[in-house]
Amino acid sequence: MLPIDPHADRARRAWLPCPHCRDQDGCEACTAGRTCHVHWRYLLSSKGHVVHLQCPNCAHVWDQDTSR
Ligand SMILES: [Zn+2]
Ligand SMILES: [Zn+2]
Repeated sequence: MLPIDPHADRARRAWLPCPHCRDQDGCEACTAGRTCHVHWRYLLSSKGHVVHLQCPNCAHVWDQDTSR
């Protein structure tokens, strides 16, 4: 498992589903599109529509185009 990125900041969060562990599946708050206190991701950086995220649950790092 990867360590949490040193640039990860709890104050910078994004609510997007993790493609690796999918821990948000079945969560009532996430399904409803509400701000979930459990299933959020570190927002490491963003460039235009592309955000660089890390999941605090499984430490998976990925890029996601939010314009789609
Ligand atoms: Zn994950
Ligand atoms: Zn949730």
